[in-house]
Amino acid sequence: MGSEDSYFRECINCGYQRGFHVYFKEIKDGKARLGLICPSCGQSYDIGWLTADIGEFEPKKEKVYEDH
Ligand SMILES: [Zn+2]
Repeated sequence: MGSEDSYFRECINCGYQRGFHVYFKEIKDGKARLGLICPSCGQSYDIGWLTADIGEFEPKKEKVYEDH
């Protein structure tokens, strides 16, 4: 408290403030880049974030968290 919070949650393009969707873009050597997409205007952001090794792009479904 008191100091300015440093986080990125507001879209620079449209000002939407409720956070972002994520995307994964496969690059090479089994790595993927993780980026953010504004759910309001669709602007995507590269935050320079690389994932650990990903063997293949086949997502497995996990638990569904219900909304209540
Ligand atoms: Zn936006």
